[in-house]
Amino acid sequence: MPDLDKIFQCTQCGFCCHGETTVSLDEEDQRRMIAAVEKPADEVAAQFWRITGSIVQMKTVQGHCIFYDDGCTVYHGRPWRCKQWPLVPALLEDENNFLIIRDSCPGINRKLSYEEFREIMARLLGEGAENNRLS
Ligand code: SF4
Ligand code: SF4
Repeated sequence: MPDLDKIFQCTQCGFCCHGETTVSLDEEDQRRMIAAVEKPADEVAAQFWRITGSIVQMKTVQGHCIFYDDGCTVYHGRPWRCKQWPLVPALLEDENNFLIIRDSCPGINRKLSYEEFREIMARLLGEGAENNRLS
């Protein structure tokens, strides 16, 4: 998807993997992560997940996701929200969302105006990305 490179190229800075909480995992995320880690489900849950009622997140260690170690160590089993970030649909709705997310993600092309960014992202979404996921 060549146009994707025009609006976003991950610098692997790791900022989005830091914080005291993580994205939540839906059931498909959980299945994919269990397969990627190659351990029984109960071991994966005990070792890697923070479960609050029906909400499953990843544990954090020293202020970052437990899977972060100079990059994502569960890349092929990462949750879809990790895969989607930072190209979330909210970017198309409001320039303020764009500015806030651009400030936290150095992978977003700063040479583009919001209109230019928005036009390319909207075209990419229209060209067949499923469920508003571009990557
Ligand atoms: S903050 Fe942006 S550039 Fe940094 S690792 Fe996350 S997606 Fe990549
Ligand atoms: S699963 Fe990977 S991409 Fe997602 S927050 Fe953890 S380390 Fe980052």
